[in-house]
Amino acid sequence: MEPDLFSRPDKSEAPPNPEASHWQERAAWLKAELNRHSHAYYVLDSPTIPDAEYDKMFRELVALEQAHPDLITSDSPTQRVGGKPLPQFEAVRHAVPMLSLNNAFDDEEVAGFDRRVREGLQAAGEVEYSTELKFDGLAISVRYEDGVLVQAATRGDGMTGENVTPNIRTVRAMPLRLHTKHPPKVLEVRGEVLMFKSDFARLNDRQREGGQKEFANPRNAAAGSLRQLDSRITAQRALRFFAYGIGALEGAEMPASHSGLLDWYATLGLPVCSERAVVMGATGLLEFFTSIGVKRKALPYDIDGVVYKVNGIEQQRTLGFVSRAPRFALAHKFPAEEAMTVLQGIDVQVGRTGAITPVARLAPVFVGGVTVTNATLHNEDEVHRKDIRIGDTVIVRRAGDVIPEVVSYVPELRPAHTLAFVMPSACPVCDSPIVRPEDEAIARCSGGWVKCPAQRKGGLLHFVSRRAMDIEGFGEQLIDQLVDKHIITTAADLYKLGFRALAELDRMAEKSAQNVLNALEKSKSTTLARFIYALGIRHVGEATAKELARHFGNLDALLAASEEQLLEVADIGPVVARSIIAFLSDPMNRELIEQLRATGVHWSEGTGSVSEAKPFQGKTFVLTGTLPTLTRDEAAARIEAAGGKVAGSVSKKTNYVVAGEEAGSKLAKAQELGITIIDEAGLLQLLEHE
Ligand code: NAD
Repeated sequence: MEPDLFSRPDKSEAPPNPEASHWQERAAWLKAELNRHSHAYYVLDSPTIPDAEYDKMFRELVALEQAHPDLITSDSPTQRVGGKPLPQFEAVRHAVPMLSLNNAFDDEEVAGFDRRVREGLQAAGEVEYSTELKFDGLAISVRYEDGVLVQAATRGDGMTGENVTPNIRTVRAMPLRLHTKHPPKVLEVRGEVLMFKSDFARLNDRQREGGQKEFANPRNAAAGSLRQLDSRITAQRALRFFAYGIGALEGAEMPASHSGLLDWYATLGLPVCSERAVVMGATGLLEFFTSIGVKRKALPYDIDGVVYKVNGIEQQRTLGFVSRAPRFALAHKFPAEEAMTVLQGIDVQVGRTGAITPVARLAPVFVGGVTVTNATLHNEDEVHRKDIRIGDTVIVRRAGDVIPEVVSYVPELRPAHTLAFVMPSACPVCDSPIVRPEDEAIARCSGGWVKCPAQRKGGLLHFVSRRAMDIEGFGEQLIDQLVDKHIITTAADLYKLGFRALAELDRMAEKSAQNVLNALEKSKSTTLARFIYALGIRHVGEATAKELARHFGNLDALLAASEEQLLEVADIGPVVARSIIAFLSDPMNRELIEQLRATGVHWSEGTGSVSEAKPFQGKTFVLTGTLPTLTRDEAAARIEAAGGKVAGSVSKKTNYVVAGEEAGSKLAKAQELGITIIDEAGLLQLLEHE
C-alpha cells in the first residue's frame, strides 16, 4: 500500500504560522496532517513521525477547538479514534465501542483529572483508583461465548474493527477456552497485543537477514504481525497479550471494581499483568507513576506510561464518556523518547581504541527529558544504510540513560539539497591516516595513543573510571588539560603528578589538588581484575578482565600466557585472545605495566583458579530483585570472591537465581527452567558452608 492513497497538503508549502490569526487555516492544516499521520500509523503500521510530534499537533488542535468550538467537525481527529479498518479484513462492529484514553504529561494534569473525577462523583474524600501499565501495543477485543474464543477484532475506528480471529488464535498466551466450569454466556475481553523487546530484536534480525523491511519499534511489529491476512505469518511472530478491560458481558455478574475484574480474569486463565495496584487519590497515582518509571527499563516489553482508572465500576458508569475517551480513565505518559530535529552536520569522534564514530550535530531538541544537540550515528555503514544526510530532518531517540542516537530520516521532509557523509581520510585530532580493515565495520585512527591525543585522553579516562582504577576527581576537563599541556602521556604518569603541577591548573583549587593526590594514592591498592580492565585492552571488558584474573591469579602468569592458554579461559574466543596477545606483545604496553607496578600499584596475588579450586568454581548465579541487606554489587563481589560467576540473564547454564523483593522476569524464567531459586539468607548459607 502506497502512502499516496490519502490526501496531504503540498509539502512545498511551509506550515502556516501558529501565531497568525488565521486559526481556521491552521486548524484545517492540523486536521489534514493528523489524519494523514493517523493513516500511516493505524492503517499502514508505518508511522513517519515520532509520536511526540503527533501529540504536539493533536494538542494544538484541541486547544484551537476549545477556543473556537465552531471548528469542531465530525471528521476532526479529536472526535475520532484510530483509523479506518482495512477492507481486506472482514468488518466487526463492536457491541461496546473501543475508545481511546485522555493523556496527561505532568503532575498538574493528573491533579486536574483527579479533581474532575471527585467533582463528577461529588466525592467527599479521596477516590480509589486501579493503576496499571500503558502497554505500547495495539488494542484487541476477544469474544468468548460459553467460554470458547469465537472472535477477535482490532479497535479500528472504535466502532468497527478488523476480524483477526485466526491470527489471535496463534497467540499462545490467549486461552482458546476459559478456565472455568461456569463460563459467562458472552464475555468480550479487551486488552493489548504486544511484542516483547527480545522477540522484537530477534524478529528484526530475521527480517534484515531475509532482506525484508525492519519494523521501527515493537508496537509496529506487533500491529504488523497481528494484522496479517495469512495467519501462518502471525504464528511465527511471538505475540503476547495482557487483558485490561471489558466489552459485552452476559450471563455473569460484573465485578464491583476494575481490580476485581482483573483478578477474575486471572482465574479464567487470561494473562493479566502483575504490575498493578489499587491506590488512593492523586498522591497514590503519582507514587505509582514514579515506581514504574524506575522499573521501566527492566520490563521485558515497552510501555509509554501508566493508566489510571477509577476503581469502582458504578463510579465509572456515573462518570461516563466524552467523545473519544472515558472520563474515568487517564493515560499518564512518560516523556517522549523520540523527537524530530534537523541534522546540521556530521563530525567524527575518536575513541580510546581509535574507533572513529560519526556524530550528528543537531538543532537542539528536547527528548527523553533533556535537550540533545549531539547523537551517535554508530558507524560509517550505518549512516549509509539508513541514508542519513546532512540537512535531513531526522528522528532522534534517547531512551533512559542510553546515548542518544539518530534512528532515521523523514523522507517527506528531505530538502532539495542534502550532503552525504564522507568518512575523512585523516584523524581530525592527530592527522594520522584513518584505516578500515575490509572485514570490519569500524574505521580507526592509525596513530595509536602515542601519536593521537584523543586516544590518549580516552584511554586515561577509561583508566581512572569507577569500574577500572576508580580514581575520583578526574573528569574530562582535568584529563584534557593534563594531556594538552603535555604534563602526562601515559597512565603511569598520573602517579607521578605533583601537588604544584595540579594546583596550577585551571579550575583547580589547592584542596581539590590534594583530593586528587589522595585519590591516586588510594587507588594504588586495587585488584588484579580492575588493573587488567583499566589497561583498556580491546575486547577485554569488565567480565573478561575478572575471568582472566580468576584464571591466572597473578599478572606474571597472564603476561606469560600463550594464545592457546588464553583460549582455556572461560568465555575467551580467538578474537579476544589475539587482541590480548597483540596488546601484551607491544613493548610500550609492557613498559607501561612495569612503570605502573613500579609506582606502587598493587593487588593481592594468587596462583589462579587452575590450581586453587574455590567453593563456587564453575557455578553461575543470577541476581534479581532487591535483597534485604546486601546491595547487588556486594552480593556479586561475595559470589565472585568464592569463585562463582554472576550473569545478567537466566539460561539453562544458570545454577542459582538469588531473588529478592520485587524480582521480575528473571525469576519467572528461572521457575520456567526449573533452576534453584534462593534468597539472600540462602546465599549467605551457601557461602558459609560450601
Ligand atoms: P493512546 O495510545 O494514547 O491510548 C489508548 C490506547 O491505550 C488503548 O486503545 C489501548 O490500546 C492502550 N492501552 C495500553 N494499556 C492500556 C491499559 N492498561 N488500559 C487501557 N488501555 C490501554 O491512544 P490511541 O488513540 O491509541 O493513540 C494515540 C497514540 O498514538 C498517541 O500516542 C499518538 O502519538 C500515537 N499516534 C502516532 C502517530 C504518528 O504518526 N506517530 C499517528 C497517530 C497516533
